Amino acid sequence: MVGLTKEKRDYLNKVVPISQLGELLGKSWERRKSIFCPFHENTRTMAAKVFPDTNTIFCYAEQKVFRPVDVMVKLLGWSLVQMMDYAKKFDCCVIPDSLDKKEPDVFDTEGMTLTQIILECDRRFKCE
Ligand SMILES: [Zn+2]
Repeated sequence: MVGLTKEKRDYLNKVVPISQLGELLGKSWERRKSIFCPFHENTRTMAAKVFPDTNTIFCYAEQKVFRPVDVMVKLLGWSLVQMMDYAKKFDCCVIPDSLDKKEPDVFDTEGMTLTQIILECDRRFKCE
């Protein structure tokens, strides 16, 4: 995809929760569980597993890791602009690397799951 640099890809994969994308697709990806792989023809035995903690889906049949960008591009058909726009909903929850961690309006997300980060973010900043 044009303009999808490694930095942008890393950013999107970091801030966009895979569980939220599952919701957009009408699937429940909040918990670690087996699913039919949405990236290949998979209808008999659930070939993939969701890992909300690492924000990934792993397909055992394909031996491939899928991240939020894969879901947004391949399943939702979004453009880079759409992805960056959607990420804004979540990016106040993540500490930009350039910011001093002592800033009062950011918090250390280390060891937190994405769900915890979003809840904590809501609590602190009332972000949408
Ligand atoms: Zn697959």
